[in-house]
Order: sequence, then C-alpha cells, then structure tokens
Amino acid sequence: MKKKQISIIGSTGSIGTQALEVIEKIRDKFEILALAGGDNIELINKQIRQFKPKTVCVKSFEAKTRLEKEFPDVKLLGGDEGLEEICSNKENDLIVIAVSGKIGLKPTLAAVKNKINIALANKETLVMAGEIVMKTAKENGVNILPIDSEHCAIHQCIKNIANVERLIITASGGPFLNKSIDEIKNATPEQTLAHPQWNMGKKITVDSATLMNKGLEVIEAHHLFGISYENIDVIIHPQSLVHSAIEYVDGSVIAQIGLPSMHIPIQYALTYPERIEGIKSKSFSFLDAKRFDFEQPDLEKFPCLKLAYAAGEAGGIAPVCLNAANEEAVFAFLQGKIKLYEISQIVEKMLSQHTTVKSPSIEEVFEIDSEIRAKTIELIR
Ligand code: MG
Repeated sequence: MKKKQISIIGSTGSIGTQALEVIEKIRDKFEILALAGGDNIELINKQIRQFKPKTVCVKSFEAKTRLEKEFPDVKLLGGDEGLEEICSNKENDLIVIAVSGKIGLKPTLAAVKNKINIALANKETLVMAGEIVMKTAKENGVNILPIDSEHCAIHQCIKNIANVERLIITASGGPFLNKSIDEIKNATPEQTLAHPQWNMGKKITVDSATLMNKGLEVIEAHHLFGISYENIDVIIHPQSLVHSAIEYVDGSVIAQIGLPSMHIPIQYALTYPERIEGIKSKSFSFLDAKRFDFEQPDLEKFPCLKLAYAAGEAGGIAPVCLNAANEEAVFAFLQGKIKLYEISQIVEKMLSQHTTVKSPSIEEVFEIDSEIRAKTIELIR
C-alpha cells in the first residue's frame, strides 16, 4: 500500500514531537514530506536525520542557512511563506497543523484550498476564522480532523451528526480548581504552569488554568460540529478520563474514555478512518479508575469561560478579539507584567470595545487581530 504523505507544521512543539513519536511507531504507513519547526535547530536537525523530509521550513534566516549547509539535499524554506508553500504541495495526503497561535491560520487555509486533509491541533484557526475555514473545507471536500483530545473524543462518538443534540466537553479544571479566588488572584506563573493532568506548551497551560482553553474549545466545537452554543456544555472532570461526550436526540449519551495521552488523538487523526494499535501503551481500567467526578464550572472563579461563550455567541469578529486580547494578556502574565486574574479583565475590556463586523473576510480577521493586540499591549502598559 502507498504510504501516506504527511507534513507537520510545528514539528518541534509538544504536539509535533508527539506526532513524530506516533509516526515512528508506524513508519510503514507514513512518509514525512515536510517538517516546519521554529528555531530549535538541534531538535529539527535530529528530526531531519530521523525522518528524512524533502522540505524543511524554519523561522529565521540564520537557522535556514545553517541547515542548508548541513543538509544539501533538503529544500530549506523560511518564514510564513515557507509554511504556505509546504501547505500548497498537493503531494500531501495530510498536514498536521501543530503550531500554536495565529500563525496556524494561513497555512491551514492554503492546505484546505489545495484539497489536502488537515489534522488540526491549532485552536486559533477555528476561533479566528471558523466560518471561513469550515466553508472552504466543505467546498473542497476536505476533512478537518481534530487532534484536541475533546474534539477527537466527540468525533469518535459521532455516527450521524444530524441526530446529535448536545456536546458535553469535559475539562480537568486545571491547577486552581479547588483554590480560592484569592489564591487564584495571587498565582505565580510557576504555580499556573503546574498542570495536574496534561503536559503542554506554556500558553495553553495558562489558558487551562483560567479555563480560557475550554472556552476556545467551545468555539472550536461549534464550528467543527455545527452545534449551537446553547447546546454545548462544559463539565469539570478532574480525572481527565472521560474526554468528552455527545447526547443524541433520543437521550442516549456516548462518551469516549481512556487514559490521558495525546498520542491517542494524534494517532486517531493520522490514521483515520482506520484504527490501529500503534503507540498504545496501557489499557484503561474502570477498576483502577475507581471514580469519575463531575461538577459545574465556577464562572465566578473562571470568568474567561463565560467571556468565551459570549464572544462565540456574538460571532463575527468577537472571537478574534477574545483570542487576540487573551494571547497578549497571557504573554504579559508569563513575563510577570500582570496578575493572572487581570487576563479576564483585559479580555472583557477589549471585547466591550470591539466594533461589530458580522462576516469578516480573512483580511479583516488579520487586520482586527493586529489592532486588538496593539490596543491590548497599550492597555497593559
Ligand atoms: Mg483540549
């Protein structure tokens, strides 16, 4: 059988490296066409030797020149144009979008326009331009397979989307689930980055602590599955064993359960519609799990979740605004410039100021994104 041709955008990040671990386990099924990483030269160097991609894209000119000397047979690209070039190559059967931030949007759109299926781990793509991306994917017959564990769980549960009434997205609750509002207010970046269940990049770990991550996932789920916001619930489930669930019109609830591991959703997206053993390391046991706890999220403690629902329901550019303000506020928090609870205050302020554009074009999305970021940085200052 012909090997699946795959490219990974963001190969040196948390999802990218785990995707390569999955691929290493099932090398007979895949060929790496291209890898794109940041400026972690050592890691990308190792990945080139191991997976022998034809094309590699790095961020800086300096990194590109260094790798060019070392790998004369590899085509080296740089910057955002490089990412778009990789994503426009029709030899790809599937592209994994594993970068975080708005940088994921343009390459995803390029791939979708070129009728290449996507395994999507980047949240911003659908938060910023869900309508445009999903419409373009539909027109081009492209599958967008979610890698996020919750959306992957929902995707696994759905047999016929027309009969799905409600999505139930689970959340671990993050490191501050049982902390008081005062403790959350004074949380340091260090405490915030100590996530109890998942080991992820810094930005998404802060988002998990404020529950903004869950809010972004609600917006993503709305676009991916076409379910209205009032029918998307978020439930806190500290054990992170039930990865999400759906309810059918007849009241049947189907949930996807398993040990918390990103390898499973990554592998599911890479091999879909096939299902294989692959990298599976351990079976889930109901007896070992002992208990499944569930509770309602506390919106007083975690106002970001409320803001995300409001932005999603407002639609248009509101999610763009939410995302841009949040990202800049998170960066400021990580640099010690603001407190954790100020993230939600900043996002709320930016949301209340945004001008309404109902169905923004992709150019408008980027324009507004830059505008809100500049305003947020100004406000923080
Ligand atoms: Mg998730």
